[in-house]
Amino acid sequence: MFKFLTDRLNPAGFKAKLEQISWFMRQREYALTYNLKAYDAILKQIEQYRLAQADEKQIKEIGKRLRLLATSGSSLDLLMPEAFALAREASRRVLGLFPFAEQLIAGIVLHEGKIAEMQTGEGKTLSAVMPAYLNALAGKGVHILTFSDYLAARDASWMGPVYEFLGLSVGCVSEGMALTERQKAYSADITYASAKEAGFDYLRDCLCLEQQELVQRPFHYAIIDEADSILIDEARIPLVIAGEMSGGREDLSHLAGLVKELRPLLDFELNQNGNHVFLTDSGLQHIEKMLNKSNLYQAQDLQLLARVNCALHAEVLLKRDKDYILRNDRIELIDPYTGRIADKRHWPEDIQAAVEAKEGINSGKNGMILGSVTLQHFLSLYPKISGMTGTAVTSAGEFNEFYGMEVVVIPTHRPCIRADHPDWIFTSREAKQKALLEEINRVHLRGRPILVGTGSVAESESLAADLRQAGIACRVLNAKNDEMEAGVIAQAGEPGAVTVSTNMAGRGIDIKLGGAREEQKEKVMTAEGLYVIGTSLFESRRVNNQLRGRAGRHGEPGESRFFISLEDELIKNYQLARFIPKDHCPQDQEGPVSDPVVRLEITRGIKMIEGYHEDIRRQLWEYSSMIEHQRRIVVEKRFRILRDETVLHHLQLQATERYLSLSEKYGTKLMQKIEKQLTLHYLDKCWAEYLAYISDVRESIYLVALGKKNPLTEFNRIAMEGFRELSDRIETEIVSAFHTVQIDQNGIVHKKEVLQTPSVTWTYLLNENGNNFLWLWRHNSAKNHKDYSNEC
Ligand code: ADP
Ligand code: MG
Repeated sequence: MFKFLTDRLNPAGFKAKLEQISWFMRQREYALTYNLKAYDAILKQIEQYRLAQADEKQIKEIGKRLRLLATSGSSLDLLMPEAFALAREASRRVLGLFPFAEQLIAGIVLHEGKIAEMQTGEGKTLSAVMPAYLNALAGKGVHILTFSDYLAARDASWMGPVYEFLGLSVGCVSEGMALTERQKAYSADITYASAKEAGFDYLRDCLCLEQQELVQRPFHYAIIDEADSILIDEARIPLVIAGEMSGGREDLSHLAGLVKELRPLLDFELNQNGNHVFLTDSGLQHIEKMLNKSNLYQAQDLQLLARVNCALHAEVLLKRDKDYILRNDRIELIDPYTGRIADKRHWPEDIQAAVEAKEGINSGKNGMILGSVTLQHFLSLYPKISGMTGTAVTSAGEFNEFYGMEVVVIPTHRPCIRADHPDWIFTSREAKQKALLEEINRVHLRGRPILVGTGSVAESESLAADLRQAGIACRVLNAKNDEMEAGVIAQAGEPGAVTVSTNMAGRGIDIKLGGAREEQKEKVMTAEGLYVIGTSLFESRRVNNQLRGRAGRHGEPGESRFFISLEDELIKNYQLARFIPKDHCPQDQEGPVSDPVVRLEITRGIKMIEGYHEDIRRQLWEYSSMIEHQRRIVVEKRFRILRDETVLHHLQLQATERYLSLSEKYGTKLMQKIEKQLTLHYLDKCWAEYLAYISDVRESIYLVALGKKNPLTEFNRIAMEGFRELSDRIETEIVSAFHTVQIDQNGIVHKKEVLQTPSVTWTYLLNENGNNFLWLWRHNSAKNHKDYSNEC
């Protein structure tokens, strides 16, 4: 019965796929579509429909006809012009907004399954309505995936009336919603949800024991807003569902005690970025002695070694009140960029358990991962996806490589006149800080609003304190509460407003000049609009551009400038200053460095950092691909069993005495029900155990590189072998359970106790910090690192 696992896992096919992917990876140049002429013909067709005079009844009639055509199989491409024209007209009537030609083009691009790059404030929310309407006509549902629950709710209530006017239903999912509400939201024609919440719902559906508990329908089409934040920045973070299961990690508290005795530098060292810790030879000997082991590198002790590493990581790298806090006997993570308590964030299970052991917490949760999927893999489950964002083009290669999506740059409705000034680079932090305060003061005095983007919460708070000390009132945005933030952002364009913010990516809110009061707009326009200042560079040009893009919306005036110092954390951590040729190295000075070579070299460094992050994502992807492939096989099979689309007859084929006598007594229908329950239960249980096994393998796999084997090949080999064994295990467990459970005319007696399903499940995101994959990277890329410094 479970041979499907092995039949479908064709190593040759998988290899071919990997080769195909690596072919893509080699294609470094991707064609970008700037030529929008191709869209002229469709635009003309859309314009041909003159619906302004039509009455409401006629509009609804057209809607009905389109729906009928779509459900009876007409091509959506053919229906597109009329459907777009209709949705456009509906928007005019309902919202008073008539989508511009640029928004129509963005809509077409989205319908084509591409990424539309459209500046902040150009109206992406409305652009999505037209392709969403068109693709929902066939009744299979369209998901609009946003960055946060707040944005999902905002957009659903904002755009909802347009869809309703057109006869479609709209739903919105948010955290904490009850099952029936969720089901209702997902059964709507259009569903707004945050990408993470949709992913968690998918994971929960994968564990349902009854068909009527499923919340999602088969996926059809998703439009992803803030696509770069979701598809690139957050894509590598796995979503996890865990449950209370038996099996603890008792040895961790023992190890937590042992690693406390290790001495810095002598027994362990940190890498140059200070984000990885590893045992030295002396540390290893020390630990081996304490554990009474002769060689932890022996195959049978590799797991133990991996746990020692986790305990060390927890002890040395994760600090209370900086990386996490203790609240109600729980570890709660702090997001370093936003400073917010990262609700639902988690380190990998072993690291989490090690931190709990270090803090002497018994969470009571023997957290067994029951299912896990990265956003990237989750989103690829949709037969069709498309995305929109203000900043995509600098990551066009990655969109193409990982998602096969092309980026199309949509021109702004009015020409953008924002002046993006070259960065000001200072030799020291003090010089930068002084110039920054002077500049803010100078501009503020002229009554011009300023948005200051900082690199971290700590930085935003210290800058705000400095500003207040200098007598400049300011508001601080640090992503603690999305809704409250919307209020602050609404005021950020007021004359003389100074707003200090952390990373702006994924915020989805634009700053209106003059703030809420329209009459102040002129005043701000004459003061040259919003001035955006970045106080340090981010690790990607895309995120830097996100910040710049907050100024100059709708063709309004605006300016942007970054203030950098050679002592900034980013520059120091990656040693970017070493890129600067010796004869161009600036001496300590008060003012900004004028030599353009310095700026060019820093920009080159940022590009290299982007490449480094891209490599990490690629590596994560490579390691997760095989498991993802296996997961899909299991999940597909599971859904078929759950929906009774597969006839289970393994027990019948075994035809044991017990089976024959029971089926004679209670009938084959009951026997099938029992087999279904046992199968779902053991499929989940064995899969969860398999995931735990694979996670241990992953943690120790880098050690195989010491034996000159390729860790990825070795990992895939072990995973394939493990998966084959998994299918046998499931069968054995079902048969043996069948012979031990008590059965009466209603099925398994004490079903709840016998088939112990987790009494509580919880979902979370893994945190990148402490992700074991980074260890892998460290090991494999040590060479890259060296090259890096040589080049400096
Ligand atoms: P984005 O997501 O691209 O940053 P939003 O969808 O939040 O932009 O829209 C920004 C602003 O533009 C909103 O205030 C919206 O009302 C306005 N807007 C969008 N489309 C139009 C239009 N066709 N005509 C006039 N205003 C529009
Ligand atoms: Mg938006």
